[in-house]
This record gives sequence, structure tokens and C-alpha cells, in this order.
Amino acid sequence: MRKKIVAGNWKMNKTFQEADDLLFEIADELNEKGRGDVDVIVCPPSPYLEMSCDIAAENDFLVGAQNLSQWESGAYTGEISAAMLHSMGVTHCILGHSERRTYFGETDNAIAKKIDLALKNGIIPIYCCGEVLAERQQEKHYDVVRSQVSEALFHLGKEALQQIIVAYEPVWAIGTGVTASPEQAQEMHKFIRSLIADKFGNDIADDLVILYGGSCNAKNAAELFANSDVDGGLIGGAALKAQDFVAIVNSF
Ligand code: PEP
Repeated sequence: MRKKIVAGNWKMNKTFQEADDLLFEIADELNEKGRGDVDVIVCPPSPYLEMSCDIAAENDFLVGAQNLSQWESGAYTGEISAAMLHSMGVTHCILGHSERRTYFGETDNAIAKKIDLALKNGIIPIYCCGEVLAERQQEKHYDVVRSQVSEALFHLGKEALQQIIVAYEPVWAIGTGVTASPEQAQEMHKFIRSLIADKFGNDIADDLVILYGGSCNAKNAAELFANSDVDGGLIGGAALKAQDFVAIVNSF
């Protein structure tokens, strides 16, 4: 039985006080509404990671970062290393998000280095992949995702791959209010699982958690999560409201 996971990507939102409030609201809402057997991960901006880890430790949710450095340590002003994150109690890190690929020029090669450093330092990567609209319209979406998955993950050994979470995030659905249909999500998740099965074997593919991301909200989460290869969600906008986020957690 695969894990079910709902992760919230806060992106560059919230002041310190607002973040503090939202963390406690999420904790209260989880206590009140429950979470079934779902692992909940909150990924706040990096200045709030320490506070988030403190609150999470008392409230049974996990904390992920939104990025980490492709370098191990040293003279890299402004960077945050995987070891630093681990030492604070951060357990997960979003890597390969389309916003980082687009606005920060992150290449598959740099993302692969980040994945390696995350794993070396005990951080579980949430590896994001997904096509832009033009690629889907030209029916290149399977090729794009095949290439992203193989470039970032195929150099790993079986043991390392077992640590990975994949998030399929069609770029045309991120922050747009346009969600992939349950059929589109299911067929791509199944495809990703088949890529992993071909390379690493059926057992490892069967255990791989694949999240859907892209305008997933409290209204559409249930029909997305009902698909056999959709193991949860990576949630952006709807993760900024505790009630919506916890409603998504309870959408299985
Ligand atoms: C995201 O950025 O990872 C995301 C899924 O955003 P949204 O839910 O806002 O589309």
C-alpha cells in the first residue's frame, strides 16, 4: 500500500506573523478534522523553516523546503545547503519546480545535483516534472516528462530511488485555475510509473508516490485523488488557507 501525501507549497507568500498564524491554523484544523492516513508536509519560505519545524514537531506534520543548493557548502552567498536543512529538522524539499526552471534557469543537470545532495543529507526530494501548454498541444507531453524523469532520476540506484516522491505538475495548470482532468492526471501518472518500472523494476514503481499539482483545490481534489496512480497532491494557492488545505488532506 503506497503512502498518501498532501504537501503545501507556500511559494514566496506570507509575512513572519502571517506564517506563524497559518501554521497554527493548519495544526488546529488537522486536530479538529483529522487527516486519516495521509502524511502532511508544509513547505514555507526558508526564513520560516525553523519556526515551522518547531510547530510541526508538536503537531504531527512534516516540513519541506522549496529549494536547496546544488553545492555542498562554502562560498555561495545566499544559498542554503541540504545539510543545513536537515540539521533544522526539515525532511523534504521541492526540487525541479517549473518556477525554478523558468525564472532561475534551473537545468536538469543542476536539479540532478540537488537531488543527490538532498539524498546524501537525509532530505526526501519532491521532484516536479510536467509539460508546458504548447508541448501538450503538440502532443509532446509524454516525451517531455520522459526526458525530465530520466535526466533527474535515472542515474540513481534502486535504494536512492525508493526515497523519491514525484510530483506531476503540468505547467499550464499551475496557478491558472485550469486543472488537469482526472483522466489526464491518471494517464500521465501511470506513464511515469511505467518509466520507473522499466528502469528500476515493478516493485519499486509500485511503491513510488506520485503527487498531482496544478490548481488542485478543495473542490476538485477528491476526483483527482480517486485515480489509482494519483497518491496525493502538491498544492500551491489552496495551501495558503488552512481550511482549504486540510479539506484537500481529507479528500481521499
Ligand atoms: C505549485 O506551484 O506547485 C502548484 C501546484 O500551484 P497551484 O496549486 O497554485 O496551481
